Amino acid sequence: MLLGATRFCVEVVRSPDGQKVFSFLFKVKMLNIILCGAPGSGKGTQSQLLADKFGLQHLSTGDVLRAEIASGSKLGVHIDALISRGNLVPDDMMYGVIDNYLRTLPKDCKGIILDGYPRTVPQAESLTELLRKYNMDALMIDLMVDEQLLIQRLIERGKVSGRADDNLNTIRHRIAVYHNQTEPIANYYLHQGNYFAINGNHTVDEVFLQIERIIKLAKNQ
Ligand code: ADP
Repeated sequence: MLLGATRFCVEVVRSPDGQKVFSFLFKVKMLNIILCGAPGSGKGTQSQLLADKFGLQHLSTGDVLRAEIASGSKLGVHIDALISRGNLVPDDMMYGVIDNYLRTLPKDCKGIILDGYPRTVPQAESLTELLRKYNMDALMIDLMVDEQLLIQRLIERGKVSGRADDNLNTIRHRIAVYHNQTEPIANYYLHQGNYFAINGNHTVDEVFLQIERIIKLAKNQ
């Protein structure tokens, strides 16, 4: 059930003389991964590796929101005020982003990695509904990293990222937001029988190996 993410697609083809129209119904298997974890847990890094190795599309909701800020739109100004203080943007705004993303996936898409979504239980519920709407399913992988290491990594990142939220006060707030609002989604997925936790305190390569093991396990189910 986990990776049996089957999408049904219809392709319409014309005969070479243009007289006949054939339509084919075909199944597409996808590998869809929800990568979860605290800020600094390595979601972005692992997502990139997964995207490269398995040919998946990577959606970082943080990147989408930062692009909106960079566009200078009114919405971007509103988002900036939330993100730079380490707060989450409202669930209904995120719903639109994800719905739009899933609706416009190319039909030969091998799978997706959701990096940064869901971050609240209502978002997890919405995602279940949206994935169902598009005949998709996804595997939830949670990167567990000790708090001291998270802080250390984010401070290091802040030296080069230029991100307004990578400073000590905001980092502490983001970790608190993670504990209060995001951590409870683990239970949501546990109840669905779709939850894999990984020890993310190791090197990038070691963490990637653990993720690959889970993917293999899930594929063989
Ligand atoms: P990190 O996980 O390291 O904090 P991201 O780049 O994933 O960084 O996200 C940066 C910020 O974007 C978050 O702190 C939050 O304000 C906002 N954000 C990203 N994804 C979501 C989401 N699913 N719901 C609400 N806010 C989000």
